[in-house]
Amino acid sequence: MPVVKPRCEASPLDDREGVRSSLAKWFSKVGKDFPWRRTHEPYAILVSEMMLQQTQVATVLGKGYYTRFLDKFPTVEALAEADDTTLLKAWEGLGYYRRARMLRETARSIISKHHGHFPETEKELLSLPGIGPYTCAALLSFAFSKPSALVDGNVSRILSRLTDDDSPIDSTLTIRKHRELAYFLCAPENPRIHHYAMMELGQTICRPGVPHCLECPVSKYCASKSPETLPVKKKRTPITLVTENAIWARNSDGAILLHHESGSRRNGLWKLPLRTAAQCESLQLIAEDTYAITRYKVSLRVHLSKNQPTKTGEGDEWISLDQLETLPLAAPFKRMIARLLPDF
Ligand code: SF4
Repeated sequence: MPVVKPRCEASPLDDREGVRSSLAKWFSKVGKDFPWRRTHEPYAILVSEMMLQQTQVATVLGKGYYTRFLDKFPTVEALAEADDTTLLKAWEGLGYYRRARMLRETARSIISKHHGHFPETEKELLSLPGIGPYTCAALLSFAFSKPSALVDGNVSRILSRLTDDDSPIDSTLTIRKHRELAYFLCAPENPRIHHYAMMELGQTICRPGVPHCLECPVSKYCASKSPETLPVKKKRTPITLVTENAIWARNSDGAILLHHESGSRRNGLWKLPLRTAAQCESLQLIAEDTYAITRYKVSLRVHLSKNQPTKTGEGDEWISLDQLETLPLAAPFKRMIARLLPDF
């Protein structure tokens, strides 16, 4: 069913002041209060942006990850000095651990190249490791109150609809076009509020699928005729199914055989040792789970090792239950261990 939508009266290109003031007025009534919206501290804003890149607000806030991380590493200096185990433990549960290491790289670079002071220009920010155009724009506006071209998925969807643009939002051309438009619309006197309002509009009103156009503060600037059909994306890479066969082995002291990852995306994390399907053929399957990572859907199958292995693979170690509490575990394996060790 087509979306019911007020008539378009003006282009956002012709009346950007109207767009800015409508958004600001609406946000002053409905804007949500998040801890990172209360601060101008660039370090705290950077941590929130990194966490929110691939994790939902509800998870970051509801499970206390954001405040716990800042309590553990309250300053750039504290984060720069963090060792791998402490860092990954503090990030445990958020997944995509590369972000934690990158955050520490950014902190180290701020210490070594900028004497511990956060740079405030686009050029300097973009030269820091881990800071791309989006994070740079977020820091410019949220920490330093400068106008910026802040475009995330929500903003991109709104811009496609406002301009009735069906070019793929993930194409280089549209990405550039949206960045220019986002900067053009951004209110220079209050870029923080402007960007928060755009993001909130995308999350609550101009939602994916069917938007709530009758409640939209900028509906009179919206040219979209069938907003539910926008935005358009390039064809997706298909999901690949893979199977991981892990073993569950305990020794006579009750220790568990774990594997310490190196040279992969889970570098530094611990997990159950993996074996080939042939090695697990004669072993009893005791638990199964699935998890998704990037374009893979992984079926994790855990087999009971018949005897305590006398020889372990490279990187495998016996870990006591006390040690287990302190090690950073890859999330799917942590869930699995919790299933197999009800007291963990
Ligand atoms: S911006 Fe989104 S919610 Fe607002 S009128 Fe256009 S399509 Fe509807």
